[in-house]
Amino acid sequence: MTTATAGFIDTERQKLLGEQTHVIAELNNLRDLMQAEVDVEPDEGDSEIFEREKNAALIAVLERRLIDIETALKAIEKGNYGICTRCGTAIERERLEVKPDATLCLNCQREVERLSRRNRPQRQIDW
Ligand SMILES: [Zn+2]
Repeated sequence: MTTATAGFIDTERQKLLGEQTHVIAELNNLRDLMQAEVDVEPDEGDSEIFEREKNAALIAVLERRLIDIETALKAIEKGNYGICTRCGTAIERERLEVKPDATLCLNCQREVERLSRRNRPQRQIDW
């Protein structure tokens, strides 16, 4: 069963390709920045290190984003775009319009987020 029409998938594909170009450019920028900032002045050490950690975190986020985008593009090629990789049901179309690289349906996304929150050593208010 599929709710996605060819026109819709084509629009999503265009969005993904645009996003992919953007993310790759951003990653290249950040990586250049990381390379350029190898020489750290002792005075600026702390803020430099903070900047680098921020950039490293951003790179990690973008790399994951890129993988999601590539996964979605591959799914389009294979003809199973918009199918949740966790439970196999069709991902909500409204969700795909907002997040074309979504690989999980809303229910699974919530479940995954709930589980990852639980694994974090944070105090949980649970009632
Ligand atoms: Zn699902």
